[in-house]
Amino acid sequence: AAEPAYSFAAGPARLPDAVLARAGEALFARGGDGAAAIERPFTGDAFRATLAHARERLAALLALPANYRILFMAGGAMQHFSLLPMNLLGASRRAAYADSGYWSRRAIDEGWKQAAVSVVATPPAGAPAAPDVSPGSGWDIPADAAYCHLTPNETADGVAWAALPDTGAVPLVADVTSCFLAAPLDVSRFGLLYAGAQKNIGPAGLSVVVVRDDLLERARPELPAPFSYAVQAAQDSCVTTPPTAAIQLAALVFDWIAERGGLPAMAAANAAKAARLYGFIDASGGFYTAPVRRDCRSPVNVRFHLADSVQDAVFAAEAERRGLFHLRGHPRVGGLRASLYNAMPMTGVDALVDFMADFMRRRG
Ligand code: PMP
Repeated sequence: AAEPAYSFAAGPARLPDAVLARAGEALFARGGDGAAAIERPFTGDAFRATLAHARERLAALLALPANYRILFMAGGAMQHFSLLPMNLLGASRRAAYADSGYWSRRAIDEGWKQAAVSVVATPPAGAPAAPDVSPGSGWDIPADAAYCHLTPNETADGVAWAALPDTGAVPLVADVTSCFLAAPLDVSRFGLLYAGAQKNIGPAGLSVVVVRDDLLERARPELPAPFSYAVQAAQDSCVTTPPTAAIQLAALVFDWIAERGGLPAMAAANAAKAARLYGFIDASGGFYTAPVRRDCRSPVNVRFHLADSVQDAVFAAEAERRGLFHLRGHPRVGGLRASLYNAMPMTGVDALVDFMADFMRRRG
């Protein structure tokens, strides 16, 4: 039999095998009502039951405190970092943002359109790394900041935060797009979390927002209803037709995570995959380099490169011939990147490491 092929894309990313196997029947098979799941009205009982199931499963996976709401909304993560100021500034004009790489900078750029932005932390000089969060590290969050935004896993830079900062009374808001559901998360540390679906939740076109009740009161009344977290929360994410097929698939993904042992099991599997790949890179005698500082390496977006960038392109092209796809780094960052989200099995990492060893033998 042919070797299986693997996509290491940063997103849209691989879905769990079991979810793909179930999706045909669950989404596309017609029922006695003459409709398949993707054909059913969002106002009907069947879709509402799926939505409730998705919400309850996700709440259980997150051990969600009672004062948080889960929203399923159309659009991606960028929609949310663009909508944040309108929803969360309230009476304030100011918002604090930590700069840790490409995606947090995109959020900052959007923040500036509506708020006075204070950049309160920047990455250290030298190897790519997350800002220092240790006490006394100089985070100076203005008292009038409505929130402090950070990106705990920088998908493009391959940088993850080793710890979260203490922002005092200012609510922490996090873009968890590429780390959501990859490990347990203490929701109570955050005022609001959001994630585009296309890494660990399901297909693109859906995003998940987790928001603390009291912050919903800040939404501006002139905000268009579909973009208002308060209105969406009040109407169970159904202000407008939600992405029903994507929610149905996300529900299957949440079931799969629960069946596999929940977020602790995801974290253990992800740590083992990351250890295997970084371990190989670090032991390659400099043939491969992982540029991110060790204590800030993302477990799910593994960046590496060869000695010269021409070799990176040769590597990526040869990898494809061996069934290993989408290993090019983010265009703004360069180099190579292997994304190892929940659905990437260890066999995929083994196949990548085998290829890397073979490439090194032939070129080293
Ligand atoms: N934030 C992060 C951390 C991301 O990884 C991405 C996508 N790679 C985005 C935001 C943008 O997501 P979208 O394309 O869904 O708007």
